[in-house]
Amino acid sequence: MYMTRKGILFIISGPSGVGKGTIKKAVLPRVGDLLESISATTRKPRINEEHGREYFFLTEEEFKTWIQQDKFIEWANVYSNMYGTPREFVIKKLEQGKDVLLEIDIQGALQVKATMPEGVFIFIAPPAIEDLVDRLCNRDQDSPESIAARLAASEKEMSYMPLYDYVVVNDDLEDAVTKTEAIIIAERCKISNLNMG
Ligand code: 5GP
Repeated sequence: MYMTRKGILFIISGPSGVGKGTIKKAVLPRVGDLLESISATTRKPRINEEHGREYFFLTEEEFKTWIQQDKFIEWANVYSNMYGTPREFVIKKLEQGKDVLLEIDIQGALQVKATMPEGVFIFIAPPAIEDLVDRLCNRDQDSPESIAARLAASEKEMSYMPLYDYVVVNDDLEDAVTKTEAIIIAERCKISNLNMG
């Protein structure tokens, strides 16, 4: 008997400021063979961000051209900037049997769920709304208006949690990373994810 499998698509998502980016960065080196998809965005690069490393930084025109050319699996407008997951990389790697990780907002995750329901959807939840306020306010790159908009959205976003496969409450980073790692390892062991012959 031989065993092979298609790659598994993991989606880490949740309200803004919940710490999903931090969890992703900590999880990647701990689980081997997990490829990170690099998103495209119209947001300006922050200090220390590089084109092709954190994001593909596009103009609005370029982003719209990519939409017209159907280059995205999903795309969404997140706080006045566009963000999207380039299709080609994800599809190619999954077909090669490689696992791929997306870290995207909830609107994007819902679109992926509609077209790729076999993905593993992980909801990162804040321990409490006050905690989310602190985290957003301590990320000093965001303006007060953008913080207010993110907070208003986060309450609604919590209502989408039941559509996901797993929830990880980010009350302690190490604990949240361990849980996310455990989910990835368990999914890789699932017999239903194997092709046996
Ligand atoms: P930031 O600008 O702080 O890097 O990201 C802002 C938000 O956009 C985060 O919630 C992040 O998860 C989300 N995001 C990043 N890339 C994508 C993407 O490709 N698609 C969608 N829908 N959201 C994304």
